[in-house]
Amino acid sequence: MKGIADWIDKRAFITPERTALMDERRQLSYLEMSAEVNRLARMLDDRYGLQPGERVGILAANSIEYLLTLFAIAKLGCIAVVLNIRLTPDELEYQLNDSGTRILIAETAYRIEGEGLLETTGIQDILWYDHREESPMQLCNLSAAYPAELLTRKEADGNSPFIICYTSGTTGRPKGAVLTQENMFWNAVNNVLALDLTSHDKSLTLLPLFHIGGIGLFALPTLFAGGAVIVPNRFDPEKALQLIEEHAVTIVMGVPTIYDYIQKSPNFETANLQSIRWFYCGGAPCSHELIHIYLERGLTFAQGFGMTEASPTVFMTSREDYTRKIGSIGKPVMFSEIRVVDEGGRDVSCGEIGELLIKGGNIMQGYWNRPEATAATFRDGWLLTGDLVTQDEEGFVYIVGRKKDMMISGGENIYPLEVEQVIGQLSAVDEVAVIGMADPKWGEVPVAVISVKAGHELTMDDVKNHCFKRLAKYKVPVMVRFVSDLPKNATGKIDKKMIKTDFMKEEQ
Ligand code: ATP
Ligand code: MG
Repeated sequence: MKGIADWIDKRAFITPERTALMDERRQLSYLEMSAEVNRLARMLDDRYGLQPGERVGILAANSIEYLLTLFAIAKLGCIAVVLNIRLTPDELEYQLNDSGTRILIAETAYRIEGEGLLETTGIQDILWYDHREESPMQLCNLSAAYPAELLTRKEADGNSPFIICYTSGTTGRPKGAVLTQENMFWNAVNNVLALDLTSHDKSLTLLPLFHIGGIGLFALPTLFAGGAVIVPNRFDPEKALQLIEEHAVTIVMGVPTIYDYIQKSPNFETANLQSIRWFYCGGAPCSHELIHIYLERGLTFAQGFGMTEASPTVFMTSREDYTRKIGSIGKPVMFSEIRVVDEGGRDVSCGEIGELLIKGGNIMQGYWNRPEATAATFRDGWLLTGDLVTQDEEGFVYIVGRKKDMMISGGENIYPLEVEQVIGQLSAVDEVAVIGMADPKWGEVPVAVISVKAGHELTMDDVKNHCFKRLAKYKVPVMVRFVSDLPKNATGKIDKKMIKTDFMKEEQ
């Protein structure tokens, strides 16, 4: 199978004039995009003599240049190591050394974080660039002298590992999932089929491109289909609404936090969102309240499920079901297989809780440099997601929680998500996280950390009384802590590890 950069070169031949990429400053047609990708690939090869399989890091915020760089790396058959811009120098050092990155492509905005890396890591050189319009250090200026003629390397095919993408680190230290160019192909096909994507679609990238969410939902599938990708430099809810109106955006992907920001924007009610075919939400559990806000606004707001290891899409709810099966993540996409199994690996019956196992052409090869973690994640060709789910008679899947989050209190299982959903019904609650606290008598007991909406009041007794009426006694939080904001990781997910650490500190 040919590599992913071939999609762009082919489109440059079939629909050269169509818009491929747009940001606040400029837009590129497929012909221009292909030319820039080829120039950039030639420049990287000329400067660094990059061999297939070598790792090239990217440290940059979202931009058109980010996508051009990814495709240039793919063209060379090299592996992109996409780095979270919020990492500390120590964390960056770890990921660069772990991945054996030789060359780093970095935006000048991250000089402070990047400068010392030449001494502390195995990196040989940093290619600094600046994406501001007036700057002579824009990538297109740096590569301008190279020919736009197609560069082809036979090694840059579907089998080439394309990217090392670190997981969000929700349950432990982030692991580098190795995804091939073919994995990207299957993710593109699955999304095209699930969303009926065509060359007339325009997607808005709100998730970071240093996570698989930004790359796979929906930048690459949109380019695969010949549509246009709009890439704002950073997420801002007003800007997002404005871009949707201005460019008649048709599809958007976000995590619940992003959609919460958007609905809180003063422009949400009045913005013209008629062009939107899909607002997809995934990456973390979404409150029913948030779902209803979008549905009542007449919008197609649907749930999807994905994970880094799956490039990332596994589930998408369909047009027929997004209002009928609220709370479900839908059914698996076309070329994705699933099972739901118990501790012994046996399939569970409808309605029973089990772990979700997945399989398909979109699933990673393994974790970079982590043979034990890889071995522990696969069983008989199935990837163990660590997510606990149930499935109804029609095959719709519901997330119950993460295996690692589940606590056992006096021998009873408690799924924090269930408790969070009950607390979330209180109209004063803005956000809530339920975590387990060690307890000498029960092993673990649930505690709730809550942020209250502006202008509302809530007491620990309100929360407990509400829970006692709706949950078994052992599931009711023994303590409630009120905070102004819940910490989030770079993907916008509530950071329970951080909440737990903060909680412990306060307790001491
Ligand atoms: P780590 O693996 O490092 O602990 P992570 O699992 O959060 O972090 P990602 O790959 O970004 O890293 O996220 C995948 C996980 O996100 C899934 O395994 C699942 O737990 C959660 N998730 C994804 N979509 C949904 C959804 N629609 N509803 C609930 N949870 C979801
Ligand atoms: Mg994970």
